[in-house]
Amino acid sequence: MTSIKIKPWIIDLPEYIPGRTIEEIKKKYKLDTVYKLASNENIFGPSPRVAEALNNALSEINYYPDSYNRDLREKLEEKTGLRKEQFLFGNGTDQIIEMVCDAILDKGKNIVIPDPTFLTYERSALKNNAGIIKIPLNDFRQDYRSITSAADRDTGIIFLTSPHNPTGTIISEEELKFILDNISPEVLVVLDEAYTEFVRKEDKFNACKMIDYYKNLMVMRTFSKIYGLAGLRIGYAVADEIIIKSVEKLVQPFVVNLLAQKAAIASLEDDEYINKNIDIIINEREKIFNFLNNNNIEYVKSYANFILIKTGKHTEAITEDLLRKGFIVRGGSFLGFPEYIRVTISIPEINEKFINTFSGIYKKYMGKT
Ligand code: PMP
Repeated sequence: MTSIKIKPWIIDLPEYIPGRTIEEIKKKYKLDTVYKLASNENIFGPSPRVAEALNNALSEINYYPDSYNRDLREKLEEKTGLRKEQFLFGNGTDQIIEMVCDAILDKGKNIVIPDPTFLTYERSALKNNAGIIKIPLNDFRQDYRSITSAADRDTGIIFLTSPHNPTGTIISEEELKFILDNISPEVLVVLDEAYTEFVRKEDKFNACKMIDYYKNLMVMRTFSKIYGLAGLRIGYAVADEIIIKSVEKLVQPFVVNLLAQKAAIASLEDDEYINKNIDIIINEREKIFNFLNNNNIEYVKSYANFILIKTGKHTEAITEDLLRKGFIVRGGSFLGFPEYIRVTISIPEINEKFINTFSGIYKKYMGKT
């Protein structure tokens, strides 16, 4: 018991359940090798140039980092053709989501989100006493028409994710334009593209290029996925300069640390490495789809580096058996899909091991393969 009065919204907030760690599972099941396929991380790791950049940066860590991220801003300007004032940086995209909510939401305002979706949107809105309007997915896709009609005069932000987490489905350019053309320009539409690099070129469009026309569009990107820098925590958003300038005022000066800035720049300088890994993941995704098709196992056709696989009423048991064999996956209800597991696509040899192990466990429970 404590007499300290914690704000009621915090008491009511659902707890974030952290994923299991490799060390924890090794210890619990006495395993030498454990594969973490639960948090959609990049198993290839960052470009080798990152290690070199970090080594060189060590002699500077007694100085505060550049709070305006100038070098990274310039690198992104050069790579994307956007203006450097259109970028906002944070300690991971998570923090940018929070800052944007802090800047726009209040009691009486609301956000519109697909249900289920990435948890941080709801948490950040609740922190600001805002309401949450949840629009169920339609056939695993974000229901752009219902999302549009749900936005009302109190709506501050619509959060969309493409590819969506946890389904991996995408939003088309036409769908995004439909939303933007049919809502008030006072509603900020956030398109979270944390996994966009895993979408094949023929399936994607450049949403960043739309921000000059749609002044209420914000696109978010991260260095945590294909760039392999999840542990350093760095992400960014692009939007109209005026929005960026206002949100920036809320940012603590040094939230993006020196090593993260240097690592991000180094990884943006190694397209060859990044593109090679994208190709491998896309190829592996097809291989896993083939395995699932050949064994009549239901799944959602993902455009990201993870796949939602149907495991039915045995989801918990299957997740536990996978753990025993050294595979950590995200299962079931935590994701809003109690009958599915979400599996991160890894490097070929680990995927192969996963398929063999999963196949045996699935057979045991479902009697299908
Ligand atoms: N958006 C989505 C959809 C995500 O899945 C994640 C990470 N799991 C993030 C944002 C957060 O990424 P970051 O590591 O940049 O905070």
